[in-house]
Amino acid sequence: MKPVKLRTKLAIIYAGIFALLLAGTIAWFYNLFAYQVNKDLTDELGERAVAVRNFLHLEGDRARLVYDAADPDEAYFVSLATRYYQIYNASSGQLMARSPEMEAIGFQYAPDEVRELIRGPRLSMIQTEQVSLLLHNDLVRSADGRLYLLQVGVSLEPRNAALRRLLQVGLWLIPVGLTATVSLAWWIGGRALRPVLELAAAAKEISISRLDKRLPVRGADDELDQLAVAFNEVMNRLEDSVRQMREFTASISHELRTPLTVLRGEAEVALSRDHAAGDYRRVLESQLEEFEKLSQMINRMLTLARAEAGQITLARDRVCLADLAASAAEQMEPLAASKGVSLTSACEEDIVITGDFGWLERAVLNLLDNAVKFTPRGGCIQLSVHSEKSIAVLEVKDNGAGISAEALPHIFERFYREDSSRSREVEGAGLGLSLVEWIVRQHHGRISVASRIGEGSVFRVELPLAELPAHGQD
Ligand code: ADP
Repeated sequence: MKPVKLRTKLAIIYAGIFALLLAGTIAWFYNLFAYQVNKDLTDELGERAVAVRNFLHLEGDRARLVYDAADPDEAYFVSLATRYYQIYNASSGQLMARSPEMEAIGFQYAPDEVRELIRGPRLSMIQTEQVSLLLHNDLVRSADGRLYLLQVGVSLEPRNAALRRLLQVGLWLIPVGLTATVSLAWWIGGRALRPVLELAAAAKEISISRLDKRLPVRGADDELDQLAVAFNEVMNRLEDSVRQMREFTASISHELRTPLTVLRGEAEVALSRDHAAGDYRRVLESQLEEFEKLSQMINRMLTLARAEAGQITLARDRVCLADLAASAAEQMEPLAASKGVSLTSACEEDIVITGDFGWLERAVLNLLDNAVKFTPRGGCIQLSVHSEKSIAVLEVKDNGAGISAEALPHIFERFYREDSSRSREVEGAGLGLSLVEWIVRQHHGRISVASRIGEGSVFRVELPLAELPAHGQD
């Protein structure tokens, strides 16, 4: 089934609500009008009945109307009031007198019906083919004490005609109003949804090769603008991620190309002519080194990818930073010594954080490894741990090459390596600090660096101190 458009749905809903409201209003107005007309009619009939009774003279079986025929107002009123009337003897039920109009209708009650009318309600109706009358029934007593039933009537025709006309108008109003509402709702819906369609058209133009496109923000600060702004923010993040992915792919290709070219070159030279067994051995040893670097880089990349995909869960143990620093320093000591760099540590005891010993040690080893790499012979590296208020601070300080101000904001990016001849001499793929930053972030901490070219660098890791253990526990 074809889905119903939002515009059509809106038009149908508007029209439905309007039809209900219109029908309700018409019904209410019709009832109010009918009530008022009926009330006016019964009031008028009551007045006429009182008048007829006052002008009526009853003597035995004779009934006469006595009024001043010379008074035009009185004559007019009596002629109006007595247009439909008839008088029955209450005890015999016999008709005594009636107006000519009543006679023309030719309707007469039987004696039993008269007796019932005497006991019945004040108002009754006569419905014939030519006329429908509303009758006021009155019991009147003559001067000699006899009882009579006096009926004074009024035609219901004008009232019925007015109600019929009102109903006709009402019934016409419903389709006319409905058509007008549907058209109006269709038009309003179209106008209201036009910006949505414009957004949809703009969104269609966005593709992976045109990620810089954005949805237009009209400046109306309405819900649609908020939607466009939110969508554009998502696009910014997406564009950023895609840019990073592209850079990542480009960097991987670049980083893999160099060792592969070296490997290939060595293999080609080795195969170009016959060599002594010792030469082949040297080539293979050199290749093994390159393979080692390659597998190290691939391992780091995999670790980073797994970390960013949320596939690594860190332990939440109590970790003493002094122990951690001592272990890392012990592992790095031989490397530092082989490069003629001194490595000293000054760690406050009892600084405990919550985290994963293995991963934190890896972070410190990375920082120390960088410090050793970028510090020339005779330099020194200081590893320290202390606490400031509620945070633990671990610092790796060296007096080595330092980092340029341009490179400083980028060193935590993947594959970033400072573009200096010094950096190019040193091995590395620019992945170490990304991993360190991820580890620190996972421990709810932050890492910062202060460095000056030629003076050295200080890497500062801040981590929240562990809560004090509950009493009785270690
Ligand atoms: P790499 O594996 O290349 O060392 P890192 O991500 O660990 O990658 O470091 C990125 C870059 O930051 C390095 O190439 C270097 O330019 C700079 N860097 C990191 N640590 C230091 C340091 N202690 N002294 C000077 N430069 C550093």
